[in-house]
Amino acid sequence: MPPLVWKPWATPKYKFFAWLVLQNRVWTADRLARRGWPNCGLCKLCNQRLESAAHLLFKCRFSIRIWNKLKLWLGLHQIDTALWQQFHSVKEWWKKAIHKKGPHRKALASLTMLVSWELWKERNARVFRGHSVTVDMMVTKIKNEARLWCFAGAKALSSLISCDQIPLFVFLFLFSALAHTKTHTEKEKTELYTHFLIDLSASWMQAQALQDLSVQRHGS
Ligand SMILES: [Zn+2]
Repeated sequence: MPPLVWKPWATPKYKFFAWLVLQNRVWTADRLARRGWPNCGLCKLCNQRLESAAHLLFKCRFSIRIWNKLKLWLGLHQIDTALWQQFHSVKEWWKKAIHKKGPHRKALASLTMLVSWELWKERNARVFRGHSVTVDMMVTKIKNEARLWCFAGAKALSSLISCDQIPLFVFLFLFSALAHTKTHTEKEKTELYTHFLIDLSASWMQAQALQDLSVQRHGS
């Protein structure tokens, strides 16, 4: 695995996907077409352009909207998504826009692995299950995952995200769960609460396990 993928902090599945995509080995429509396999050809995130890894990850208007919102959230003023259209491959984009020398280089690389995998999952949900979420829902999901990474030991990312936001983040989750229970019956509210607490403890345990893993890796 190249240092481009190996050095920045990310969990293994995100790194593996980044490695695949940098090798241009993900099965996007352009690659399927080159093999003569049937596909609709259009990007499922925008339904306007031909799908390629480069389009999905940094040229699609859906992906760009997500990146622009994350840029505002983290104050990543060095990112200019308008310039990304000039890059022809994921590797070129990574080298010239993401992993170039500058402030928050490692944090940006971690974030890129996170966003890329989430975009790919969203693409697959649309292709195989006909299920889609909005840009705002994607951004919320990415922010929550980034905070978990931060808690689990992603130091560079922590320099961008205030990790003391985590208790607040948990509180907001609880508040939002309460707010959504208004229209439910008592039984449904109890079920919702139970699921919420199970999800919360699962996320917490996942973060704890990642933190332990990170400590072991640094200790060895
Ligand atoms: Zn698109």
